[in-house]
Amino acid sequence: MTNLTEAKLAREAELCYATIAMITDYDCWHPQHDAVTLDEIIGNLSRNTANVQRVLHEVVRELPDTRSCKCGSALAHAILTDRTAISRATKKRLAPIIGKYIS
Ligand SMILES: [Zn+2]
Repeated sequence: MTNLTEAKLAREAELCYATIAMITDYDCWHPQHDAVTLDEIIGNLSRNTANVQRVLHEVVRELPDTRSCKCGSALAHAILTDRTAISRATKKRLAPIIGKYIS
């Protein structure tokens, strides 16, 4: 469930998308661990923040100028509606998102 909405919206917007998940604690499911404290969570959160900043710094530096993946055309075959059935008003409203496929 985590990131489902974000991933779906990114796909619909034809954006490349990846998730970096950072864990702060075992919450309540781990029988070998005591109950978590706020200090532990905040400490892990702070370390995670520093780590993700380092990761992003390296990843962004390595991103190519142009993408070679198919994210940018993810909707090319996703719109099944007959284009002639899409009203002019709907085409205008959806133009910023899918204009290249329905114009
Ligand atoms: Zn991509």
